[in-house]
Amino acid sequence: MSPDPTRDTLTVVVAAFNEAGSLPLLHPRVATVLDALAGDGIDGRVLYVDDGSRDGTWEVLQGVAAGDRRVALLRLSRNFGKEAALTAGLDRVDGGAALILDADGQDPPELIPQFVAKWREGFDDVHGTRIEREGEGWLKRATAHAFYRVIGRLSKTPIPRDTGDFRLLSPRALAALRQLRERHRFMKGLFGWVGFNRVSIPYHRDARVAGHSKFNFWRLWNFALEGITSFTTAPLRLATYLGLATAAVAFAYGVMIIVKALFWGDRVAGWPTMMAVILFLGGVQLIALGLIGEYLGRLYEEAKQRPLYLVDVWQPAADSGRDAS
Ligand code: UDP
Ligand code: MG
Repeated sequence: MSPDPTRDTLTVVVAAFNEAGSLPLLHPRVATVLDALAGDGIDGRVLYVDDGSRDGTWEVLQGVAAGDRRVALLRLSRNFGKEAALTAGLDRVDGGAALILDADGQDPPELIPQFVAKWREGFDDVHGTRIEREGEGWLKRATAHAFYRVIGRLSKTPIPRDTGDFRLLSPRALAALRQLRERHRFMKGLFGWVGFNRVSIPYHRDARVAGHSKFNFWRLWNFALEGITSFTTAPLRLATYLGLATAAVAFAYGVMIIVKALFWGDRVAGWPTMMAVILFLGGVQLIALGLIGEYLGRLYEEAKQRPLYLVDVWQPAADSGRDAS
């Protein structure tokens, strides 16, 4: 098949970690959508990234690729995490737009034509915004909500609320994103940083079709920390103000103590006050130190300049039109 200038290419990028149960259910849905799009002047392809799965995902993917000539496979040398896996996938998209999809069916592939329609209207970043999250408890919903509020306040980069990685990137948005090579990849923020014409598509987020979420609360907490430290230095400034405020209060208190001692004498009392002040100041200092440490640690990771991921196997689509390497 020779590249036809009148046709657009769309590559669906799916990061999969231990998704042997979901992929056989997901792929037929994606394939059906791509078949429909083919009549619409879109050459659809799928790129599955196996993020170091240990449950036979790779074998399942081999089967999928054998049955569909549009499927390319990439396998990382180990589990690098969703962000790195997506980056690896996006790096291999060979021309055209890219659409990111979760392997677990939580982002319905049936919506892809809506994303494509927006792309054709001239939008560069078409992202799905969840109106409802099924199969997720109130606690996860509440914390997610709080997170978007906090980061929305703190960061200068626009980060749309309730927006995951389900999105379509036009060729130029994709090219821009590929230039961001930072190690700590808070994807939502990176997409926001790129800018261009953005539009959101509200959608109903389904429950997983199989398996279980890889993001427990501890990982989500770290994810939130990642987002905040990658996109704003506001906490550092907060530490400065906290320090200033404490110093001001301490100064006023010091003056008060001296005046009191001068006029009324010093009766060597006040052990509770002293302890309280020492403990409080110690706590404030440790928090500020920890904050600095968070940023310093990230600087350290960045300074090492390691690659974001390592590829074990790259298997281009049988039907890729040209030889990708
Ligand atoms: N994923 C991945 N590497 C990981 C963890 C997750 O590629 O280390 C993939 C996973 O296979 C799925 C997507 O990222 O396609 C979202 O993961 P999950 O459904 O566990 O997250 P949730 O939807 O609960 O936020
Ligand atoms: Mg999921």
